Amino acid sequence: MPKYVYDFAEGNRFMADLLGGKGANLAEMSVMGLPVPPGFTITTEACRAYLATGAAPDGLAAEVSEHLHRLELSLGRKLGQVDEPLLVAVRSGARFSMPGMMDTVLDIGLTDDSVAGLAAWSGDERLAWDSYRRLVQMFGTTVLGVDAGYFAAALRDAKQAKGVDGDLGLDAGDLRALTARFKDIVREHAGREFPQDPREQLDLAIASVFSSWHTDRARTYRRAEHIPDDLGTAVNVCAMVFGNLGDDSGTGVAFTRDPATGAPGVYGDYLPNAQGEDVVAGIRNTLPLHRLADLQPRAYQQLMDIMRTLEGHYHDLCDIEFTIERRKLWMLQTRVGKRTAAAAFRIADALREEGLIDADEALRRVTGAQLAQLMFPRFGDTERAPIATGVAASPGAAVGEVVFDSATAVQRAEQGAAVILVRRETNPDDLDGLIHARGVLTSRGGKTSHAAVVARGLGRTCVCGAESLTIDTEARRFTTADGTIVAEGDVISVDGTAGAVYLGELDVVPSPVVDYFEGRRPADRDDLLRAVDRIVRHADRRGRLEVRANADTAEDAHRARLLGAKGIGLCRTEHMFLGDRRVLVERLILAADDAARKDALAALLPLQRADFTRILEEMDGLPVTIRLLDPPLHEFLPDRTQLTARVAVAKALGQGDTQEDLLRAVDRLHEQNPMLGTRGVRLGLVIPELYDLQVRAIAEAAVARVRAGGTPRAEIMIPLVGDARELEIVAGRARAVLASVAAESGVDVPHEIGTMIELPRAALTAGRIATTARFFSFGTNDLTQTVWGFSRDDVEGSFFPVYLAEGVFTASPFETIDREGVGTLIDIAVHEGRAARPDLELGVCGEHGGDPASIRFFHEVGLDYVSCSPFRVPVARLEAGRAAVGNTAVDSR
Ligand code: ADP
Ligand code: MG
Ligand code: MG
Repeated sequence: MPKYVYDFAEGNRFMADLLGGKGANLAEMSVMGLPVPPGFTITTEACRAYLATGAAPDGLAAEVSEHLHRLELSLGRKLGQVDEPLLVAVRSGARFSMPGMMDTVLDIGLTDDSVAGLAAWSGDERLAWDSYRRLVQMFGTTVLGVDAGYFAAALRDAKQAKGVDGDLGLDAGDLRALTARFKDIVREHAGREFPQDPREQLDLAIASVFSSWHTDRARTYRRAEHIPDDLGTAVNVCAMVFGNLGDDSGTGVAFTRDPATGAPGVYGDYLPNAQGEDVVAGIRNTLPLHRLADLQPRAYQQLMDIMRTLEGHYHDLCDIEFTIERRKLWMLQTRVGKRTAAAAFRIADALREEGLIDADEALRRVTGAQLAQLMFPRFGDTERAPIATGVAASPGAAVGEVVFDSATAVQRAEQGAAVILVRRETNPDDLDGLIHARGVLTSRGGKTSHAAVVARGLGRTCVCGAESLTIDTEARRFTTADGTIVAEGDVISVDGTAGAVYLGELDVVPSPVVDYFEGRRPADRDDLLRAVDRIVRHADRRGRLEVRANADTAEDAHRARLLGAKGIGLCRTEHMFLGDRRVLVERLILAADDAARKDALAALLPLQRADFTRILEEMDGLPVTIRLLDPPLHEFLPDRTQLTARVAVAKALGQGDTQEDLLRAVDRLHEQNPMLGTRGVRLGLVIPELYDLQVRAIAEAAVARVRAGGTPRAEIMIPLVGDARELEIVAGRARAVLASVAAESGVDVPHEIGTMIELPRAALTAGRIATTARFFSFGTNDLTQTVWGFSRDDVEGSFFPVYLAEGVFTASPFETIDREGVGTLIDIAVHEGRAARPDLELGVCGEHGGDPASIRFFHEVGLDYVSCSPFRVPVARLEAGRAAVGNTAVDSR
C-alpha cells in the first residue's frame, strides 16, 4: 500500500509532485530548521484515489490517526481537547500554486467544549469566540456547502444591532451569540448539526479540500495557466498559530525582492492583531513591512535573516506568508514567487551576478513569452472606458486615424499619417494596407484569422473579432454598441495586448528593449537592458539552432538583421506580383501566344531582379532562401463575382472593352478548393516560364551583387512538392537557367536548390526528394493543414473553441507544433532526408519557428535553423538557447 501521509520532517522541496508545492516547501523549511508550526501532508496520490472513487482510500484514516497522534504528542495537546486544545489548519496545496483557488479551513478542533479551553489558554475570550465563529462560517461554506450570503447577512445584522462598523467592534459576548446564530444557519441549510467531534471536523475538511480540486474556479484557473486537470491536490494539516492575540501579534506576506520590478530589497505588508486571511481579504489597511522593524524589532530581524537564508537556499525570489504570535515568528508558507517579465530578467541577471546561479540557469529562468512581452509598446494607464473589446490577436499599442480600405491606408500612410485599418475581416488584398497600418481592427474572426496571422507576422497590433462593432465600409464609418459613430479620419487607440479599443489617443510607452535590439539605445545604462543583453547573448552562445527571419522586403531584411537574424529562411515572392504589377500578371495570363507571353515576362524581370538585389544586399554574406511563386494564379486576378457583374453591365451598355477575355481567364482558373489546387510546384510545371523568370531574376540579382563586390548567398526553394519527380523537373529547368546566366555574365554564382516539406507525401518520401534537394524547409503551416485536413481560415473561428474546450488539443496546432502528428512526419523526413544526403540542411519556416514550445521540438529533432518573423527573432534566439541548456531542476510556475 502506498504511503499517503508524510510528516513535514519527512519531505523536501523536490517532492512537489507528491506533496504539492506548499507541502514540499513547508517540509523544506522544517528540515532547514526554520520555525514552521508542526504538521503533516496528505499526498496528491491520496487525492487522486479519492477523486477516482469518491471515498478516502483504504488505510488513509489510519495513517492520518498515526500522524495526528505524533503531532499531539510533540505538542503535548490533543486535537480539540477541552483545556488548551490543539487546533489545526487544513490547507490545500497542489503541484503548481493556485492561489486562493481551493479551500483552506482554519481553527479545526474548536467545539462548544474546547472554545472555553482556548479562552483560558489564551487569556482572551474574544479571540476564542472569534475563532469559533470563523470556523463555523468557513466550515459551513466550504465543507458543508452553505451559501456564504447567510453568514454575511447574520454578521451584518450583528454589527447593525450593536451599531458598529467593523468586526473589531463586536465583543466576546456578541461573537458568542453570533456563533450560535451561525450554528443555526448550518442546521437550517446543511441539514445537519455543526460537528462537535474534532476528528470528524478534520476528516470532512480533508475530503472537502480533495473535492475542491474540481470546483469551477479551480478548473478555470488551470485552463488559463495550462495546468493539467489530473494532478490533484495535497492536503496540509498544520498546527494553528494565532496572529490575532493582541498588538504583539500579527500576520503578513513578503517577497525577498520586488516582484514587479525585480529591484533588490524586501517588500511586503503586515497587519497587526490579525489572522492570515485578513491580509488578503483587505478588511483593514496593512502596514508596509519595514514598519515591523519598529513594532517588533526582534521578530523583524529574524524575518530578514530567514528571507536571506531562503534566497540563498532556493537561489531565487521567494514569496512568504508569516504570522507572529506574541512576538514569536512562525513561517506559514514559502514558494518561488511569481514575477513580471521585467522582474524575471532583472532577477535572473542579478542572481547570476551575486553568484547564486550560473549563466545557464539565468537563461532557464526567463522565457521567450516574457521577452516578447517586453518588446511590445504599450499604453500608459488610462481612466477611459473601451468602446469595444475583442480578441487580443497581436500585442502592442497602436494609435492612429481610422481607414476602411487598403488603398486609403497606403495613401494616408504615405502622407505621413498613422493609420488603423478597420475591416470586417481582411484578405490577401489587404496586405499593402496591413503593411502601412500601425494596427488593424476587425469585427470578425479569431486569433488565427487572416488579419491576426498577418499582423503577428508583421509585428502590427491587432484586435479582431470585436463583434459589438458594426462596420460600414461603404459609408466609411463604424458604430459601437452604444451607438457612438466613428468616421474615417477619427483617431482610435488599439490595445492588442488586452484586446481593447479606445476612442481618441492614449499615451504610448515605447519598448526600450526593441530600441536596444535595433541599436538605438545602449544596454549599459539601464539594468533591464543590461540583463536582456547578457541573457540573450548567452543564449546565442549556447543555442545550436540558428535563427533566420521570414522577410519579403529589403526593409524587413534590414530589421531582421538588426534583431540578430542569421539569414532569411523564407522570402516569399507573392507580393512582387501585387499592386501596380498586377496588370503585368494579367497580361501574362491573358497572353494569346508565345510572343505576348514573353513580352509580359520580360516586363516583370527587371522588377523582380531589383527586389532580389536589394534583399541580397541587406543580407550580404548570409543565406537568403527565396521561395518561388506559391499561390494559385487566380489570386492575382480580379474577384470573379465582381468581374461578372462588371462585364454584364459593360455589355448591356454596349461598351468597347467588356473585359470578357479576363472573365474567361478567371473562369478557367477558378477552383473549388484552391488550397489543394494549381499552386506551388504545380504552377511551375504548368507555366514553366514563370519559374524560369524568377530563377533568372534571382541569378541576375546575384550577378549584380558579385559585380558590386558583395557576397550573395541566394537559395532557391520550390514549394508544395509531393513527389521527387516534380522537383527533378523543376530543378532541372532552374539549373539550365542558372547555367545560361552564368554563361552570359561570366560570373559563376553557386546556388542551392531545395524544397519545402509541407505535404505528408513529401515527408514520407523525403529520402527520394533529398537526392535532388540540397535543403528542406518545413512549411509547418501547410503541413499542419494537410495533416489534419483543416483549412485554417475556416476552422479556427468555427470549431476550434470546442476542440480546445473538449481537450482534443490544449493549444491550436497552428500556434504550437502538433508533436504527435505533424512532429512525427517531420521526424521521418529528417531521418530519411539525412540518410540520403548527410549534409542536407534542415530548417523550418512556418509560424511555429517563433513559438517557444515548437522551437524546443525543432531543437530535439535536430533541425539546423528556425525562421520566423523579424520581430520574433530575439524571442527565437532566446528559446534556441533555452532548448540547448535544458530544463531547470525546479519548476517555478
Ligand atoms: P492559500 O493557498 O490560498 O494561500 P493557505 O493554506 O496558505 O491558502 O492559507 C490561507 C490563510 O490562512 C493564509 O493567510 C495563511 O497565512 C493562513 N494560515 C494557514 N495556515 C495557518 C496556521 N497554521 N496558523 C495560522 N494561520 C494559518
Ligand atoms: Mg497561502
Ligand atoms: Mg505553404
